Amino acid sequence: MSDPNGFDHLDRLVRVRVAMSENDIDALLLSVGADLPYLTGYEAMPLERLTMAVIRRHGEPVLVVPELEAPRVERKPGVFSVRAWGETEDPLRIVADAMGEARRAAIGEATWSRFLLALQTLRPEVEFETAGPLVASLRVCKDPREIELLRRAGAAADRVVERLRDEPFGGRSERELAQATAAMTVEEGHDSAAFTIVAAGPNGASPHHEAGDRVIEAGDAVIIDFGGRVGSYCSDTTRCFHVGPPTAAYAEAYEVLGIAQQAAVEAVLPGIEAQAIDRAARRVISDAGYGDFFIHRTGHGIGLDLHEEPYIVEGNDLALAEGMTFSIEPGIYIPGEFGMRIEDIVVVGAGGAVRLNRSSRDLAIVE
Ligand code: ZN
Ligand code: ZN
Repeated sequence: MSDPNGFDHLDRLVRVRVAMSENDIDALLLSVGADLPYLTGYEAMPLERLTMAVIRRHGEPVLVVPELEAPRVERKPGVFSVRAWGETEDPLRIVADAMGEARRAAIGEATWSRFLLALQTLRPEVEFETAGPLVASLRVCKDPREIELLRRAGAAADRVVERLRDEPFGGRSERELAQATAAMTVEEGHDSAAFTIVAAGPNGASPHHEAGDRVIEAGDAVIIDFGGRVGSYCSDTTRCFHVGPPTAAYAEAYEVLGIAQQAAVEAVLPGIEAQAIDRAARRVISDAGYGDFFIHRTGHGIGLDLHEEPYIVEGNDLALAEGMTFSIEPGIYIPGEFGMRIEDIVVVGAGGAVRLNRSSRDLAIVE
């Protein structure tokens, strides 16, 4: 049975149970975060009242929800049954009972610690571990419907970039430009804007700079990194702008960065380790003498979460596989001067990376 969004939750349930069996997990407990909607189509409200799905290896999963939220649960017979709890009941007792004979349980990574601590008290004989890797093993490879949503999100982000290339920058504050970018993110087809980083001049040297009151001036390099969601799936792209022509030092570094990003994209192939993609970008930047100024990993997986597996970082020997989606976003950050980053989302295809962002990566000279 499939969902109106086209996702087959029953199939995902079968697959997560295979993973549970392989990992000797008797019960999977999921609360807030993306694992629950991935498996059931229902997203828990991040509130103090507990929502938790209890999935055992056999039998119908149970979604334990506050009574007042039960009306918004779309019923999915076969995928889960609903156990609504009233204000005077203890939902953790209901979860503890629903775990049955479980000896090993995996619990969602974002679950509040007070819920886990209470469950450990109620079921002291149960060994708890994080459910992150278990569900990530399913989520890491996207199906065609998920890739289509990521592609639509990427195309909408690209349209925002094309509009930004025609915008006036000088005289506007970072915050003003961030608000305009967020509005365009929705206008161009996202359901919502998720985040917008606008970093001008020396602020660009801080990769996660929060847009502030700094007024953009002639001669500033500006980094814009933003994203939104389409059908719960994220976009995330970064482009560089320059108010008037850049200095020779900037132009030289930007050329190196473009070559590094391209090298990393070209290194993608099924079977290649994630860390090899990081090395491909880093080698170009280090060989050009900017190694100390590339201060973060090359990328991160993307899907229901903005940052998820696979992380494109030294030490991650995960083999890339078809359907994996991640960012490739090397950067160069010169403290006190400027920063630059070029970011595209790619999907791993049989023959290599397919970019989901196709807007121009050339430096945009703006007014
Ligand atoms: Zn980004
Ligand atoms: Zn990113």
